[in-house]
Amino acid sequence: MAGKLQAPRGTFDVLPADGERRQLLRENADDLLGRAGYGPFETPAFEDTEVFARGVGQSTDIVSKEMFTFEDKGGRSLTLRPEGTAGACRAYVEHGMHKLSQPVKLRYWGPFFRHEAPQAGRYRQFNQVGAEALGSDDPTLDAELILLLAELLEDSGVESRLKLSSLGNAETRASYGEELRTFLRAREGELSEEVRARVDANPLRAFDADHPGTRAVMAEAPLLIDRLDAADAEHFAEVRGLLDDAEQEYDLDPTLVRGLDYYTRTVFEFDSPSLGAQSGVGGGGRYDGLVEQLGGPPTPGVGWAAGIERILLASDEDPDDLELPVAFVAVPRPELRRMAFGIVRALRDSGARAEMEQAGRSMKGQLKQANRIGATHVVIVGDELEVKEMEGGEQRVVADEQELLEAVLG
Ligand code: AMP
Repeated sequence: MAGKLQAPRGTFDVLPADGERRQLLRENADDLLGRAGYGPFETPAFEDTEVFARGVGQSTDIVSKEMFTFEDKGGRSLTLRPEGTAGACRAYVEHGMHKLSQPVKLRYWGPFFRHEAPQAGRYRQFNQVGAEALGSDDPTLDAELILLLAELLEDSGVESRLKLSSLGNAETRASYGEELRTFLRAREGELSEEVRARVDANPLRAFDADHPGTRAVMAEAPLLIDRLDAADAEHFAEVRGLLDDAEQEYDLDPTLVRGLDYYTRTVFEFDSPSLGAQSGVGGGGRYDGLVEQLGGPPTPGVGWAAGIERILLASDEDPDDLELPVAFVAVPRPELRRMAFGIVRALRDSGARAEMEQAGRSMKGQLKQANRIGATHVVIVGDELEVKEMEGGEQRVVADEQELLEAVLG
C-alpha cells in the first residue's frame, strides 16, 4: 500500500461536525455586519507580493518572516494573503471606490496564510472574519466596529477583554519613534539581543518583549499616548465616549502594539482568557495612511479581523441547537427504499431536515442512527406509514403524506 498522505503542517480539515458550528458563526456574522451596512466583499487568496510589502510593512514579522511567497510561471512574485486589510485597500483603489458614497463598508470571511510555528490556536492556514470602513475618519466608525466585534464574540459565547489605545498620526509616531529609539539606545545594555537588533527598524515592538531586562526598561519608557496631538487626542476621546455610552468596558493599554505597521489613531484587541498563550481572538484599528501608501488618494479607514478557529476554541456554546425538526426515514426492507426516498424529498421540501437509511442497517441499527443524527421523529414506511416521536416514544399511524408532514412539522 502507498504511504499515507496528510494535510500539510499547520493546516487542518474541517469535518462536518465542526463545519456546522462554523456555518452558524458565519450566518451570525453576516447578519450582524449586514445590518450595520457592511456589504459582502471578496479579494483573491493571493496578491502581488508588493501589496503586503507596501501595505503591511517590511519591518513586521508578517512580511519579514511569515509570508508564503512564490513565483508564478511568468516570474511574478505572488504571496498568499496573510491578512485582509491591504487587499481591501488595493481593491478600493483599483475599483475607484473613493467615487462611491463614503464610507465604503465591507465584510469578508475566508482563509489567510502565515508561516508561523503551529500550536493550539495558531495555524499556517486559518480563517478570519473581518470588517472595514473606508473613506471617513468619523469616530463613530471606530466605535461601531469595536462594538460589532464585541457583539459577535458575545453572541458566539466567547468571554473576552477589550484592550484599547491610540497611536496618533504618522508624524507623531515618527517623532515618538525617534524619542523611543534615543531612550532605548541609552539603555542598550539592558535589552535583549532581539530587541536591540530592531531598535532602528521597529522600536515599538520592544513593548511586546518577554525578556525581563527589556520589560524593566520598557516600564520606564515614554508612551505614545502622552504625545498625541490635539486632533488625535480629541478623536480618541470621542471614541472612548461612544464606548462608554454603549457601556462597553475596556482596558486602556498604552503599550498595545499590533503586529502590523499601518495603524494610526485607534487600535484595539480582544483577548480571551480561555485561549492560553494565543489569547488574541480579534483586533484591528484605524489605518488612515494605507490607501495612499498603496497608490490611492488620501483616504482614512478603520477595520478589524477575528480568527474563526480562535472564536470556536474560546466559545463555551453548545453548537447543536438546531431548531428545525429532524426526521429519520427508516427503511424496513430494501424494496421500500423508493417510497422512503420520495418521503424524504417531501419532508425536505416542506422545511424539515430529513435523512433516510442509506447503509443497509437492521431496524435496530436504524433507530440508533436516528438517535445519532438527533432525530426528533422517525418515519417508518411500509404498508402503513408510521411516525414515532423520539421524545416520549409515542408512535402513530398516519393516513397519507399530508398527515405525515403535519405530524413531523407540527
Ligand atoms: P491579526 O491580523 O494578526 O491582527 O490577527 C487577527 C486575528 O486573526 C487574531 O486575533 C487571531 O484570532 C487570528 N489569527 C492570526 N494569526 C493566526 C494564526 N496563525 N492562526 C490562527 N488564527 C490566527
